[in-house]
Amino acid sequence: MSAPITIVAGSATDTGLRRRINEDSHLAASPLFLVADGMGGHQAGEVASAAVIAEFTTLVGRPSLTVDDVQAALRRARRRVEALPAGAGAGAGTTLSGVVVADVEGEGYWLAINLGDSRTYRLSDGELEQISVDHSVVQELVDNGLLDRDAASRDARRNVITRAIGAGSDGEPDFWLLPAEAGDRILVCSDGLSGELAEARIDAVLRSEADPQAAATRLVHEAMLHGGRDNITAIVVDATGVRSRAGGADASHDTAGSAPDDEFDADTRPRATQAAGGGS
Ligand code: MG
Repeated sequence: MSAPITIVAGSATDTGLRRRINEDSHLAASPLFLVADGMGGHQAGEVASAAVIAEFTTLVGRPSLTVDDVQAALRRARRRVEALPAGAGAGAGTTLSGVVVADVEGEGYWLAINLGDSRTYRLSDGELEQISVDHSVVQELVDNGLLDRDAASRDARRNVITRAIGAGSDGEPDFWLLPAEAGDRILVCSDGLSGELAEARIDAVLRSEADPQAAATRLVHEAMLHGGRDNITAIVVDATGVRSRAGGADASHDTAGSAPDDEFDADTRPRATQAAGGGS
């Protein structure tokens, strides 16, 4: 069975200008595009994020994954992080955000996952949307109307997350199941990118750099120029072809508009109806 989404992706990561080590880890290999931002002193965060990504690496090469596949890998990852020996990562934790390719009745879907404050965005039909919702103290304050989005980006509590893998958290991930369209561009990043670059700037770079590797490299570079106060990781994922229900043929970017399954591609739904489980 061929992959339901044909993908070209690029990724870049950098320690940044202030930190001594890079505690971010990432995986950009079909069908998984994930960023993990580790936390914990004495390199513990680096060990935790690497352990989680290593667990998901065992799934590389499959045409698609299910929510159950991801949940099972997450349980194994959690056990690995919780079993880290004292001194080499006890109490360590990590975020996890990104997309995996899913197959829903023969159609290509993005299965987005999030735990913590790394982010997954989607540029689709000319519009950039943040898919993931941060599990953070400032996001809770924003949700409750106690802080506006602008103040949140400067708030001293902006690095405090409310769910993680490890770090004493047993918080469940959020999942979103979104029908993919040829031409979709997904960005997965750590807060070292979203904390340095305004969303409008991220949007502009994603639109102006056609090549996904060039886009990822430039985003990380620009975050460095803005201060590089944290580790920075960006994965840019382009859907060049998406299998649709009608005949199972690939709809390429150029022909999507005239494909017979056009009404299908236009079937955008409100986010509330797309949640596949979890929910915040
Ligand atoms: Mg970070």
